[in-house]
Amino acid sequence: MIPRTLDAVEVPSWKEILSNAISSPKILSERLNIPLSDISDPANDEFKLFVPEPYLQRIEPCNLNDPLLKQILPAHQEALPTQGYSKDPLSEESYNTIPGLIHKYKRRVLLVSGASCAINCRYCFRRHFPYADNRLSKEQWLQSIHYIHQHPELNEVILSGGDPLVSNDKQLNWLTSALSDIPHIKRLRIHTRLPVVIPQRVDEALLNWLSVLPLQKVMVLHINHPNEIDDAVRQAIQRVKETGTLVLNQSVLLAGINDNSEVLSTLSETLFDAGVLPYYLHRLDKIEGAAHFDLPQVRIKEIYADLLASLPGYLVPKLVAEIPHRASKTPLDLHLE
Ligand SMILES: *Cc1c(COP(=O)(O)O)cnc(C)c1O
Ligand code: SF4
Repeated sequence: MIPRTLDAVEVPSWKEILSNAISSPKILSERLNIPLSDISDPANDEFKLFVPEPYLQRIEPCNLNDPLLKQILPAHQEALPTQGYSKDPLSEESYNTIPGLIHKYKRRVLLVSGASCAINCRYCFRRHFPYADNRLSKEQWLQSIHYIHQHPELNEVILSGGDPLVSNDKQLNWLTSALSDIPHIKRLRIHTRLPVVIPQRVDEALLNWLSVLPLQKVMVLHINHPNEIDDAVRQAIQRVKETGTLVLNQSVLLAGINDNSEVLSTLSETLFDAGVLPYYLHRLDKIEGAAHFDLPQVRIKEIYADLLASLPGYLVPKLVAEIPHRASKTPLDLHLE
């Protein structure tokens, strides 16, 4: 028998964790001791249950109201017809002329560089995004890079997805070194949930990639509830920060998950303790299948007013909505409208 090294036994790689993520309602039901009848298995294949082990471990068994469970549990309400909700509420497809590239705002461009995610969040505004059409060949990447070269007004490239950190480090390295050769590009922004759902993703290779990258770096995490932040997540964030990367967080305001000012102010405090500044609090996009997470406008304003009264200004995320065809996200003003 070949003796196995300690490493191989104790530290599964992020890829192993990702490939062992749970997608079976039956296994989820057994693991968390919740009735199988409360889990809906979506008929279409496009947005199945998908949750990796490190995230699952932060969910309280037997509790259907657990705020992390609610983010990943395919609920029966998803299938209910809802007026005013659509598959592409942001009209992103109209800006998606080059596959994988969305140029909607003036000086920054978004690359859909992760063709999948490490978790399926039920409220996701890209749950119906045609990832298959945006799974890029090297040729198509070169087309995006060419586009960015041709647009000197751009100074920031945002890697989004899906989750860009689902890509392997070699691909990331290739792409970002091409980007850093473009003289007008100053900043790289990475929108990712991976360091939260699989903190093991923040490994030596990733840290090395960030450390040597000759661009300013911003990482925007996506955390909705303080229970998502455990010691492993804190450590991962700390290590990312040591590469000189600014770490911010965005959240989505979600009924039954974080729809009160106590949870949100605890989230901001917990983020700050972990070295992260709150950036955005998004109003839910009207995406088909997510209507049960929505809140009335008056309630949103009430929660936000309470939040403003509970926190120092720098710990209050900007409350914004995505309104199609506007030049930026739209701040929701408490006193107008
Ligand atoms: C949100 C978003 C951005 C980034 O906007 P910021 O306000 O700079 O965070 C860029 N492109 C698209 C398409 C977006 O949806
Ligand atoms: S990680 Fe982000 S992009 Fe992926 S499903 Fe969750 S919210 Fe959507």
